[in-house]
Amino acid sequence: MCGVFGVFLEESQEAARYTYLGLYALQHRGQESCGVVTSDGSFLRTHKDMGLVSEVFNEEVLAGLPGRIGIGHVRYSTTGESSILNAQPLVVRTRYGTVALAHNGNLVNSSLLEKELQQDGAVFQSTTDTEIILNLIAKTKAKNLEEAVIKACRHLKGSFALTIMTDDTLIGIRDPLGIRPLCLGRLDRGYVLASESCALTSVGAEYVREVLPGEMIVIGPGGFNSYYYGGHGSETLCIFEYIYFARPDSVLSGKNVYKVRTRIGAELAREHPIEADVVVPAPDSGVAAALGFSKESGIPYDYGLIKNRYVGRTFIQPSQGLRDLGVKIKLNPVPSVLKGKRVVLIDDSVVRGTTSANTVRLLKEAGAREVHLYVASPPYIKPCYYGIDTSSEEELLAAKYSLDKISERIGADSVTYLSLEGLEKAVGTGADQMCRACFTGRYPVPVVLESEVKVRCS
Ligand code: SF4
Repeated sequence: MCGVFGVFLEESQEAARYTYLGLYALQHRGQESCGVVTSDGSFLRTHKDMGLVSEVFNEEVLAGLPGRIGIGHVRYSTTGESSILNAQPLVVRTRYGTVALAHNGNLVNSSLLEKELQQDGAVFQSTTDTEIILNLIAKTKAKNLEEAVIKACRHLKGSFALTIMTDDTLIGIRDPLGIRPLCLGRLDRGYVLASESCALTSVGAEYVREVLPGEMIVIGPGGFNSYYYGGHGSETLCIFEYIYFARPDSVLSGKNVYKVRTRIGAELAREHPIEADVVVPAPDSGVAAALGFSKESGIPYDYGLIKNRYVGRTFIQPSQGLRDLGVKIKLNPVPSVLKGKRVVLIDDSVVRGTTSANTVRLLKEAGAREVHLYVASPPYIKPCYYGIDTSSEEELLAAKYSLDKISERIGADSVTYLSLEGLEKAVGTGADQMCRACFTGRYPVPVVLESEVKVRCS
């Protein structure tokens, strides 16, 4: 889970500001670190740091990043890898000039590639697989950067959506299965690439289309060119983008995420009718599904939980004795909505169950008579190797326990999941072609479970 952005402006030198606004819109895809690289035609300048876009960038920083071309990245990392060295975009000098790269995705053959590159003398500064991609590009003998990128990408297995830039070119490229999203937008005088269409809207760009699986788009002064380097033409987009990752106002493969989520909620209501007094969303990821559920079931929707939107990563965790208060600073129940009620709590998914258990406890403490957790996706039973922070089956609640046991551990009166068929129906055409491996164990890119292979988000 990360977000990438890229902009090519024909005249204006404001690429940094466009990239800043684009990253702001993509902040939900990663809050660990962020960065922007720009080119004024001769030099690439970088600014990146740990923290949110609003914490890392200010007027002075943006003024120090002049240029017509820019790329940016917001990063979500796995535990233990939260380091400035892993902040992106990464910038290196190569035979093709200075190259900057931002990556969303996860390679499943990164250990193997890293070992091969090290044997050839490559050195690594970070622990992200993104550096592997840059090393592959740098060592590839090719006519030009575009050819080197394609040759390098043919070695990669897993998911990747990349924005790449030099001093005069912007490139967007997507893995042959299109597991991670990337779309193209048009400005009056320029082009934009972004993980999600919400970032196009935020910079005033018009949505053109998705970058297709196995496609590379090269943007220069004369417009853009498209090249296909792999893939079978059809998309295997991560279905979790619709369930949780993407922002509701984004459009992915022609489908508005909010609409899909309300259909998911309606499907959940049809599959599992229940008698209850109020439907409460887990903020904010359960909101659209809860609205769909409420409309279909006729059970009133209400805000039983209020989220404090201003708790950033700099929030100091309270001491052990005040831990409960810490939870309440982030999320607070509304007793007048909950007292004596039979509550249907709608959440997008349950992975480890820790958050759900906390939420159910808050609802009960606020006086809810019953809490029934309705999950707007099927049981999450297999780890994701393409960019989500779940490294082992051991951590996954639904992989280990029966429904009764899950209810008991979460403290809910019942737990109900949407079926895979229900999810596919709600997503619509092509859903059976998407990656659904965390629900089925059928991985679109074979995963070699070597003990040394680590799941790493770039
Ligand atoms: S395994 Fe699940 S979370 Fe990972 S890419 Fe596939 S659908 Fe998405």
